[in-house]
Amino acid sequence: MNKIEHIGIAVKNIEESNILFTKILGRKPYKSEQVDLEGVQTSFFKIGKNKIELVAATSATSPISKFLKKNSEGIHHIAIDVSDITAEMNRLKREGIRLLSDQPKRGADAKLICFLHPKDTNGVLIELCQQV
Ligand code: ZN
Repeated sequence: MNKIEHIGIAVKNIEESNILFTKILGRKPYKSEQVDLEGVQTSFFKIGKNKIELVAATSATSPISKFLKKNSEGIHHIAIDVSDITAEMNRLKREGIRLLSDQPKRGADAKLICFLHPKDTNGVLIELCQQV
């Protein structure tokens, strides 16, 4: 576990939120990317060494659609940068933490990702990510 890589914020409308966060942060997103496998559209903003990821749903079955039905817009996940995602997944499994996928998945921003089960993490959705 190296550092917090980014904070993910679930939004309903990515275009409107891009405009809003450009106003708030005083800069435009450096990257926008659609991840079809996850059913999400993402935008990334850099603030010094930290990042904020805006995440919107691209389909009704997207995890973000489900999140927005249960919750309002807001903080969705905290992503932690790891050097070896498979080793960390195995370590966490041994610690009894459930993972939302058995294998690392291809995420946005050239990352391999895996989410931890929020029921095993005090309700916080934690994303592991490894730069590829
Ligand atoms: Zn993320």
